[in-house]
Amino acid sequence: MTVPGTLHVVGAGLAGLAAGVAAAKAGVRVAVHEAAGHAGGRCRSFLDERLGRVIDNGSHLVLGANRTALAYARATGGIEAMLAAPAAFPFVDLVTGKSWTVTPKRLPAGIGEILKALGLPWTGKAETVASRLGETPSFTRLWQPMCEAIMNTAPDEASARMFAWTMRKALLGGSDALTPWIFPAGLSAALVAPALATLSLFGAETHFRRRLKALEADTLVFDDAEVPLGPADRVILALPPWVTASLLPGLVPDLPTRPIVNAHFRCAQPVELPRDSHFLGLVNSSGHWLFARGDVLSVTVSAAGALVDMDNESIADRLWDEIRRALGMPPIAPPPYRIMKEKRATLAHDNHTVVVRPGPVSGRNGVFLAGDWIASPWPCTIEAAISSGLTAARLALARPGLTF
Ligand SMILES: Cc1cc2nc3c(=O)[nH]c(=O)nc-3n(C[C@H](O)[C@H](O)[C@H](O)COP(=O)(O)OP(=O)(O)OC[C@H]3O[C@@H](n4cnc5c(N)ncnc54)[C@H](O)[C@@H]3O)c2cc1C
Repeated sequence: MTVPGTLHVVGAGLAGLAAGVAAAKAGVRVAVHEAAGHAGGRCRSFLDERLGRVIDNGSHLVLGANRTALAYARATGGIEAMLAAPAAFPFVDLVTGKSWTVTPKRLPAGIGEILKALGLPWTGKAETVASRLGETPSFTRLWQPMCEAIMNTAPDEASARMFAWTMRKALLGGSDALTPWIFPAGLSAALVAPALATLSLFGAETHFRRRLKALEADTLVFDDAEVPLGPADRVILALPPWVTASLLPGLVPDLPTRPIVNAHFRCAQPVELPRDSHFLGLVNSSGHWLFARGDVLSVTVSAAGALVDMDNESIADRLWDEIRRALGMPPIAPPPYRIMKEKRATLAHDNHTVVVRPGPVSGRNGVFLAGDWIASPWPCTIEAAISSGLTAARLALARPGLTF
């Protein structure tokens, strides 16, 4: 049954966009309210004037196992701006100089290690990725980079149970589960602009530069307007945890976060990575994943606590030196660069934090919660954000079968 009122979605990150798209396509009146001047939140592109290129706030990758994210991209048409790359993950170790490629059929790990990573036998609730896999021969070359990339949390604090769940999805989730989907035209072209176009096509309102300041029983109090809520209206707060906590005191516990740093370098000409790959995993280095998009090389540092407080020039020097060595370039100074620091990029996925996350029901009549940090088996990812938006829309509209 369609709710005859309006579904107000506050926050136009991927969780809010997903909720809005699902509801608007189902014929529901939708209004999206976003504090920033643009949608996409932590997953967006922008024109960097210094580099003269459209860059992403940080390089993102989606796996074939991220079924809900791909369903959203298909429903909005954004999938046309994504590319399914071959399921081959090249790595180089900057200390030993060794390189190798991980494919679904060629994991550099024995069956005993793989079973442990998959959570078998039983994984205790206090186990971390390091306590479970740290002594295995493939820890440095496989499990550690996977843990940092997927969970943005150092292995000595990352929840082994959550890691095992993502490994089961990736390794046992079907032949395409490890297919890496990349964003050759940027994140916004695939995940944001098509969603906004879909919202507009289905008659949804979108309001930018509109920050929610308070949530009263019958009113949404924004900085630029007060929006009355009728009895048939519903609200989805698709906001970061600390904002939700300030609007609904007592509901959200203190959830620690971890930073991600990205460095984008504009090279003199297009750069090709080894094996014609779009990305390269770096081991025994500060940088973790190197992405090439034309003449822009971007390197991601996950769980970047050690780097985030350094000045940009020192970060650029250090990461450029690693890139140069990984690609066998001569010792030249860094080309023009942009450093992006996302200080609260994701939650810290430690065993305490992942179990105290609240669910999508706020306890306030007609108000539901979405966001990558809402309780689910997934760590904070595109998949978690989009799934949470869909779940919140299903609950708000009392339509358990709602899809994109
Ligand atoms: C650098 C980086 C790299 C990443 N890499 C990957 C990756 O490779 N793969 C992957 O799957 N995931 C990755 N992620 C995670 C992914 O980007 C996030 O999980 C996802 O974007 C979160 O979406 P969200 O909608 O839950 O939250 P957000 O994007 O934070 O959206 C919240 C929105 O609410 C708005 N807002 C805040 N306060 C208010 C208010 N008071 N009123 C109105 N609006 C408000 C914000 O402006 C924002 O638009 C990465 C994240 C970062 C930062």
